Amino acid sequence: MRQLRTLRIRAYAKINLFLNVVGKRDDGYHNLETVFQSIDLHDEIILRERDKKGVVIQCDHPEVPCDSSNLAYGAAQAIRNSVGGIRGLEIRIVKRIPVAAGLAGGSANAAAVLHGINELLSLEIPQSTLLRIGRELGADVPFCLIGGTSFGTGIGDVLTPLPPLPDVPFILINPGISVSTSDIFRNLHIPLTKRKKESIIIRNCVEKRDTVGIGKNLYNILEIPVFSKHPELSEIKFHLSTQDGTLGALMSGSGATVFALMQDTYAAQRCQSHFKNTYGFCITTKTYPCGVHIDN
Ligand code: ATP
Repeated sequence: MRQLRTLRIRAYAKINLFLNVVGKRDDGYHNLETVFQSIDLHDEIILRERDKKGVVIQCDHPEVPCDSSNLAYGAAQAIRNSVGGIRGLEIRIVKRIPVAAGLAGGSANAAAVLHGINELLSLEIPQSTLLRIGRELGADVPFCLIGGTSFGTGIGDVLTPLPPLPDVPFILINPGISVSTSDIFRNLHIPLTKRKKESIIIRNCVEKRDTVGIGKNLYNILEIPVFSKHPELSEIKFHLSTQDGTLGALMSGSGATVFALMQDTYAAQRCQSHFKNTYGFCITTKTYPCGVHIDN
C-alpha cells in the first residue's frame, strides 16, 4: 500500500502600506487601491493525505472554526471540485497570525492549502487557475498566493507586483479587539472629498526602496471608521509614531492590528521592549518576499 504523504507549508501574513476606497460597486463590494506587503509572521499548515474520504480540519485556536466555514477547508474543497477523484485530506493549522486582525490569516491559510495540495498530489494546476479559485474564496487570497509586494485594485484581487523591498523591520501590536471586515465596509460612509488620496507617491517610494518616504506616506482610509469605534487603536498608533526610530505607523486592513515601520532592527527591538508588557500581542517582524513557502 502506498504511504500517505505529508507536506508542511508556511502561510505568511500581510499588512497594507496603503489602502484607499475608491468607489462602491453594484455587487455591494468596494473598489480599492492598496499596497500589500508580506511579512515573516506565519501560520504553519500540515497537510496529510488520509485513507478516508473528505477534508478534516484541526486547529487549536478557539476563534478558528474547524468546519466547512474554515477558509482552508473551502480551498481544499475548491481544488477537489475542480480536479475530482482525489483522496481525503487532513489539514492541521498551527495559528500564530492573530485572528480577524487585518493580517489576512484565513486568506493566507487558504492560499497555502491551494499551493500545498497542488504540490502534495502533483496536480500541476497552473498559477492562473489557482488565482481564479483563490479569488472566489476571498479578496485577499490572490495576494497571499503571490506574496511579496504588490499593488492591488478591484476588491484587492487585481494585482500588479512591485519590486521587492529589502528587509524592513516592523513592530506589530494587536490589542485583542476583533474587527469584522464586512461590518466596517457595510458602515463605510466616506465623503467623496476624502477619497482623493493618491497611491502613486507611495508606489514611487516602494519602487525606489525609499523606506523614509514609505513611512511618511502610509495611509489607510479605514482608520476613520475603525478609530471612531475603537479610539484606543488611535492611541496605539500615536504611541508607536512617537517612538525613537519610527518612520511611520498605520492600522493594517480593517484592523485591529497597528504596525510601525522602523528605521532599523535595533530601534524595532527597543520599541518592542517598550510595549511588550502592555499588549498581549506585540512582535518585531520584517518584510518577506513571498506568501507561501513549502518546507519539504
Ligand atoms: P482580512 O485581513 O483578509 O480581512 P483578517 O486577518 O481580518 O482577514 P482572518 O484572520 O482571516 O481575518 O479571520 C476572519 C474570520 O474568518 C474569523 O472570524 C475566523 O473565525 C474566520 N476564519 C475562517 N477560516 C479561518 C482560518 N483558517 N484562519 C483564521 N480565521 C479563519
